[in-house]
Amino acid sequence: MTTPGPRPVRAARGTARTAKSWQTEAALRMFHNNLDPDVAERPDDLVVYGGTGRAARDWGSFEAITRELTTLSEDETLLVQSGKPVGVMRTHEWAPRVLIANSNLVGDWATWPEFRRLESLGLTMYGQMTAGSWIYIGTQGILQGTYETFAAVAAKRFGGSLKGTLTLTAGLGGMGGAQPLAITMNEGVALCVEVDPARAHRRVATRYLDEVADDLDDAVRRVEQAKQAGRALSVAVIGNAAEVLPELLRRGVEIDVVTDQTSAHDPLAYLPKGVGLDDWHDYAARKPDEFTDRARDSMAEHVDAMIGFLDAGAEVFDYGNSIRGEAKLGGCERAFDFPGFVPAYIRPMFCEGRGPFRWAALSGDPADIAATDRAILDLFPDNDSLARWIRLAGERVAFQGLPARICWLGYGERHLAGLRFNEMVASGELSAPVVIGRDHLDCGSVASPYRETEAMADGSDAIADWPLLNAMVNTASGASWVSIHHGGGVGIGRSIHAGQVTVADGTPLAGQKIERVLTNDPGMGVIRHVDAGYPEAVEVADARDVRVPMR
Ligand code: NAD
Repeated sequence: MTTPGPRPVRAARGTARTAKSWQTEAALRMFHNNLDPDVAERPDDLVVYGGTGRAARDWGSFEAITRELTTLSEDETLLVQSGKPVGVMRTHEWAPRVLIANSNLVGDWATWPEFRRLESLGLTMYGQMTAGSWIYIGTQGILQGTYETFAAVAAKRFGGSLKGTLTLTAGLGGMGGAQPLAITMNEGVALCVEVDPARAHRRVATRYLDEVADDLDDAVRRVEQAKQAGRALSVAVIGNAAEVLPELLRRGVEIDVVTDQTSAHDPLAYLPKGVGLDDWHDYAARKPDEFTDRARDSMAEHVDAMIGFLDAGAEVFDYGNSIRGEAKLGGCERAFDFPGFVPAYIRPMFCEGRGPFRWAALSGDPADIAATDRAILDLFPDNDSLARWIRLAGERVAFQGLPARICWLGYGERHLAGLRFNEMVASGELSAPVVIGRDHLDCGSVASPYRETEAMADGSDAIADWPLLNAMVNTASGASWVSIHHGGGVGIGRSIHAGQVTVADGTPLAGQKIERVLTNDPGMGVIRHVDAGYPEAVEVADARDVRVPMR
């Protein structure tokens, strides 16, 4: 028997199934879609995004998961342990078809060195958030959150628009690549530092980034001209953020907003200064401790420069990659002088159960997404910012892999959208079923003290019961696949989070499941924030009848 190895993977399209039901066909297509070369950052290594976030542990596991999903019955559940299929159990038709646990380690063992030791023995894999839970939809997946975040920055500091402002950031990977488009959608100018030219050019090819400059002088000239003219523009400069940010500070370039989305959560995925791009992965594999020290030293210099811009009056925030924590380990004393983006801009939305609702058309037909876009506009006619987003996304977002859409919806809204999509599948308005899921980065599904649960009102930042309850309630409510991961976003030892995906196949049973899952899942966000004492969440719970026994 030959050992399975890399091969091009692309999700099936259309209405002919190879799996026994749409519930399992959907999981199969989304699993494959995560590894589509148009979607994944390094498909040959099974890496989808976010440093080393993988869809399957190895190619043998890939083939076995594919096989099992193809033969799985409607009363069976596949168990996936860190990217490897480990069992099939008899369950029932309301049970998830797949249950996934990725990268989980017992507390005292939850460190990168121990994780890597176990990974090198072939015992685990890093699942990030939507990589190992098969609901990554390309850079669009983070685009609206990024757009909303920059809109909140604009509202807080610049009268509602980023017009005439310059934002400096780094990292143009799977998620970070959303930044330039989110900034120009808010009418601003973006200067993005990226060390790998291929990543920057990929963002131009997918229309997330406007231009790649020849060098730093050229980049500064282009962005300053655009800022002066009040013209939206995004420019990448190829270089190491630990060198370029201090240099921009030294030159006194006037920057209005500073953030970062290099893969700082994993010191082996952040290139230290003085290390060549070509030596990166070999060096990290050969001498992980030395590489980690050098990466942390560089992150300390990078964050020192961010603090320099803060002192000069810029709006500065950590965009969920743990760079403050790593820089602190590298000796940057003031690393936590600037806040994370959740307490700074997003928490009020979490209190309403609002978060990233996403769906993908299993038909592969962009017309299906256009029809769901219209359905969203009809369902929520009074929500102007949602309407603006849906229109902009329709015009400016290039699909990667299966056509998909994201928009942030709250408690009391998500199930209405899901039920409408299910009706559209049943009536033939959509040509095939759709999957409805979300990022793990949501209102009630994460414990992550450097990100989603930073600075909670009651100090409960590190309490991780909430994501576990979230996964259990989604399992009990009829989700099609449910996942519990550790370490996504901010790295090993720093987060525990859960995800769910539910299939709208047009059947009445799917409708019942959708109504429960898409009510209870954001409901977790409301009760999480009621419990932590947020008055905005209490108001939502009262107004929308969310039952919280001891409030
Ligand atoms: P990725 O690994 O696909 O991309 C990271 C990019 O950073 C790469 O292109 C890499 O070349 C570049 N890079 C690394 N070191 C650099 C350096 N010193 N200077 C300049 N560029 C450098 O990761 P991603 O999916 O884009 O995610 C980025 C980070 O954001 C991760 O830490 C991830 O966990 C986090 N994240 C945040 C959110 C959020 O909502 N804010 C969501 C998902 C992920």
